[in-house]
Amino acid sequence: MGEIQVIKSKLLTCRHGFSTRTGGVSTGIYESLNLGANRGDPIENVLENWRRFGAAAGIDTDRFVHGHQVHGTVVRVSVKADAHSIAEPTPWEGADGYVTAEADTPLVVFTADCTPLLMQDPAAGVIAAVHCGWRSAVADIEAVAVKAMEGLGARRQDIRAAIGPGIRKCCFQTDEEVPRAIDGLLGGDSAGLYGPDPAEAGKYLTDLPGAVHRRLLQLGLAEENIDELGICTMCDPGRFWSHRAMGAVRGSQANIITL
Ligand SMILES: [Zn+2]
Repeated sequence: MGEIQVIKSKLLTCRHGFSTRTGGVSTGIYESLNLGANRGDPIENVLENWRRFGAAAGIDTDRFVHGHQVHGTVVRVSVKADAHSIAEPTPWEGADGYVTAEADTPLVVFTADCTPLLMQDPAAGVIAAVHCGWRSAVADIEAVAVKAMEGLGARRQDIRAAIGPGIRKCCFQTDEEVPRAIDGLLGGDSAGLYGPDPAEAGKYLTDLPGAVHRRLLQLGLAEENIDELGICTMCDPGRFWSHRAMGAVRGSQANIITL
């Protein structure tokens, strides 16, 4: 179904990409570019999808750094030896972000509405891939990731950030706990990031990518170094996997970056 698409940020100068759901070989509810393993899709299809996506992105995806994501704040400093096949089990506990300064060590996080965040300090040669679900975002995985990059020599004024496709304020209906937690994260600097949902009393529409963006500014990244792509996964189920739109039985996008 469709063609392979690799969505890129104009700010990142290293190889990277955000995937869509088109151009793969998976069938049925996984049609067609499912890049997630252990979701019920035959692994041969997932491997072929990765071959296609890697070729389109110009990245060797036989091995890459990835693992079980747990909506926490662990960001692993990664080395080339941590990279493994999508068909192999991950030899560490859950993590929601990875950083590295090593070449040919692709970092991957999976999303299907959560906010994917790819970062690069081009001067220092340090990169990050972060899975920002709302629980990780309000627990400040953004700061954990920036500090982990600094630990490898990055400087926050040089870090560039690309906020990829995820559910946006148009579609992300939440209870009050999410905007309240965003207020807590941002010290109240959350104007415009949420409002009452006119369609349902007591519910809110919440801007998760916007909250990640604002937190990165608070952490000292420059506005001109932050690229919020503005693409909503739930608005376009023909192009993107969306957990809210499809439920738990679905494929996954992958978000990849490598030096
Ligand atoms: Zn939307």
